[in-house]
Amino acid sequence: MIETRATLIADLPRPIRILSCVAASALASLVFLSAAGLSCMAQPPAPPVATPPAAEKPLPGFDLSSMDLSADPCTDMYKFACGKFPANHPIPPDQPGVDPFYVLYNVNTQELNSILQKAETSANRSPDEQKIGDYFKACMDTSAINAGGLKSVQPWLDKIDALGGDSVSRMKLAGLIGELQRDGVDAFFGYGEQQDYKDATKQIAFIQQGGLGMPEKDYYLRSGDKDVKLRSQYVAHVAKMLTLAGSPPEQAQKDAQNILAMETALAQASLGVVDMREPEKTYHLQPIATFTASLPGFDFPSYEDAMHSPHVAEINNATPQFWPELMRQLDTTDMATIKAYLRYQVLTTAARNLPHAFDAENFDFYGRVLEGQPEQRARWKRCSSAVDGALGEALGKVYVDQYFAGDSKAKMLQMVHDIEAAMGRDLDEIDWMSPATKALAQQKLAAVANKIGYPDKWRDYTTLIIKPNDALGNELRANAFENDRELNKIGKPVDKNEWQMSPPTVNAYYDDSMNNINFPAGILQPPFYDQTQDAAVNYGHIGAIIGHELTHGFDDEGRKFDAKGDLSDWWTPDDLKNFTARTDCLVNEYGSFTAVDDVKVNGKLTLGENTADNGGLLLAFMAYMQRAKEDHLDVNAKVSGFTGPQRFYIAFAQNYCENTRPEAVREQVLQDPHSPDQIRANGTIVNQPGFANAFGCKKPTPMVPANSCRIW
Ligand SMILES: [Zn+2]
Repeated sequence: MIETRATLIADLPRPIRILSCVAASALASLVFLSAAGLSCMAQPPAPPVATPPAAEKPLPGFDLSSMDLSADPCTDMYKFACGKFPANHPIPPDQPGVDPFYVLYNVNTQELNSILQKAETSANRSPDEQKIGDYFKACMDTSAINAGGLKSVQPWLDKIDALGGDSVSRMKLAGLIGELQRDGVDAFFGYGEQQDYKDATKQIAFIQQGGLGMPEKDYYLRSGDKDVKLRSQYVAHVAKMLTLAGSPPEQAQKDAQNILAMETALAQASLGVVDMREPEKTYHLQPIATFTASLPGFDFPSYEDAMHSPHVAEINNATPQFWPELMRQLDTTDMATIKAYLRYQVLTTAARNLPHAFDAENFDFYGRVLEGQPEQRARWKRCSSAVDGALGEALGKVYVDQYFAGDSKAKMLQMVHDIEAAMGRDLDEIDWMSPATKALAQQKLAAVANKIGYPDKWRDYTTLIIKPNDALGNELRANAFENDRELNKIGKPVDKNEWQMSPPTVNAYYDDSMNNINFPAGILQPPFYDQTQDAAVNYGHIGAIIGHELTHGFDDEGRKFDAKGDLSDWWTPDDLKNFTARTDCLVNEYGSFTAVDDVKVNGKLTLGENTADNGGLLLAFMAYMQRAKEDHLDVNAKVSGFTGPQRFYIAFAQNYCENTRPEAVREQVLQDPHSPDQIRANGTIVNQPGFANAFGCKKPTPMVPANSCRIW
C-alpha cells in the first residue's frame, strides 16, 4: 500500500531509530515518504481535480455489516468478524488494498485536502498557511509541471554529466552524493542522526547500507520465475526512465543492465531485513578515523560538508560489511554506469513533479508491478499527502484544531493508564521470570512516557522557502530542511517532546531509545477510537493498539533496551532462556501460516509485531475487565446481540478486516515486519486465554487449540 518505493523503508536514515508501529509499512510510508509519486500508464495527463469527488466515510466503531454470522467464531474468528468486509469493500483501483487503516487514511486525506484548499486561496494567510497552501498549489499545477519538462532537474543532470571518466571525477563523487542525499535523492547509502543505543542521552551520527531500487536485498538474489521476471521488469523500468530523459534506447537498456549488476553486488553485501531488526548487528560506534579508514579514496569531510553535517568525531557504522563492496563498486564500475545510476535516482525521486510520462512510468513499476494496483491515486490525494510529508506539523496544527475532539486526549490517557496498570499486574503474575528481572521490567514500564495526539511545541518552518509555482523545488527544499534539522541534532541534548509521525498519521509507534509510546491524533478516530461506543468496543480497537505499542518495549527487540532507553543486558540468563523458548513458539506458529500462493509468513521477521499483537490484546482485555469492574459495567449485558467480551474480541478482529491484492500481500510478506491483516486477527486470537470463555468455545477448536503461545 504504497505511494513510494518500498525500498525507502529499508534504507532511509529513519529506521535506525527503532520505531515499532502498528500499521504495515505500506501505510506508514504513504504518510512519511512522499518523495516518489506514482501514476497510471498510457493515459493523457488529465487535468487535476482539486476536490474529492465523493465523501469518504469513516467505518463504524462496531461494524455489524462486515460480520458473517453464519461463520463459527470458534472455528474462524476472522470470518465471523470480517467475512462480509471484502464484498462490502471492493478494492478501489487506486489502492493496493483496503482495511480500516486505509479507510481512515482516506478520510484524513480528505480532511487535509479541505484545509489545503482553504490555505491555497484565503486572504491574510499566516506564514504556515502560505507554506502549506502554496506547496499544495504548486503540486496540483500539472500544466506548469508538464510545460517545464526537465527544467527543474536540469541542474542535477548537468552536475552528473559533468563527471568525467577519470579518477579525479571519482574523487568528486563524495561531495555530489552528499548534495544529492541532502535533497532527498537516495544514492548508495544512508546517513543521519540517531540516539546512541548505549547512551540514549546522546545524539550521534550513523551511516548504513542503501542504494537499492527494489524493496530489499533478496529481490536481487532470490531464484524463481516471479523474481527473475521482476528483475527484468526493473531493468525495463530503469531503461524507460533514462530514455524519457533523453538517453538513446539501446544505451539506456545497457546502462539499466549494468545498474542491476551494480545493485546486485551491493545487495550481496547488505544485511537482510531480519538482521536489520537486531540492534547489536547495527551498532558499531567508532572514532571517525576508524570508520573513514574503511572508505579509502572517499572524501568523507567533503561528503559531510555537502550534507550540511557537522564534522563528527565518532559514528555508528551500522553495516560495516557493506563498505568494502561499495568502495569496490565506486572504484571499478565504469563511470557511465555510475552516472546513469545517479540520473535514475534523481528522476525517480522527482517523478511526481516531472512531466506526466515520468510520473506514469514510476507508478507503473512501483505501483502496478510491485503492488498490483491498476491506477494511481488521484493527484489531489497525492498532493495532500505530500504536504503532510513535507510540512506535517504546519498542516497538523490546523488538522488538530479542526478534527481532534477536545476531550479525546483525556479519555485516551485513561485507557493508556488502565493498560499500563494491566501490564504491571501481568508482570507480577507471570511464572517464568525471576523477581530480579521482574523488578527491572517494572522499572522500565513505570518509565514509559505517553504521548497522545500532537506535540506540545510545534516545529518552526520559518527558514523553509515554499513557492506557489515550483513543485519540485519545494519538495527538494523540504527534504533538505528536514535533513538539516535532523543532522543539527548531532551532539545536542535529546528533545523528548519530538514526534516521529505527523499528527494526521493513521499509525502509532513505540520508540526504544525514548522509551515512549506515541498515538497521533490521526488514529484516534473511528473505528479505532469512537466516542459513541462503549468500553468493550474501544478497548478492543484502540486499547489493543495501545497494548501493542506498550508490548513493543518488551518484545524480542525492545526487551534489549532498559528504562532509560539504553541497550543493556538487564535479563538473567535463565529468564532470557525462558523468554526465547516463548518467542520460538511464536516464530514457529506464525511461520506455519500461508500468506499468499506459495509464500509463508516469515516468523522471525514478524516476531516483534506478533509479540506486540498478542501481548497487546491480552493487556487490553485485562484492562477492559478491570475498567468494567471499577465502573460497575455489566459485561454480560448484550448490545447488538453480543456480550461485552464478545464485542471486545469482535472489535479487535475488525481492526484487521481486509481486502488486499495478492501482489501487495506478497510484497508485504517479503519485507514488512507486520503479518498480513487476516493473520494478525486469527493468529492473535488463538493465543488468547479469555477468548474461549467469551464465545463458549470447547477446546480444541481451530481458534482454541490444545497448545498455544504466550509471552506476556
Ligand atoms: Zn508494531
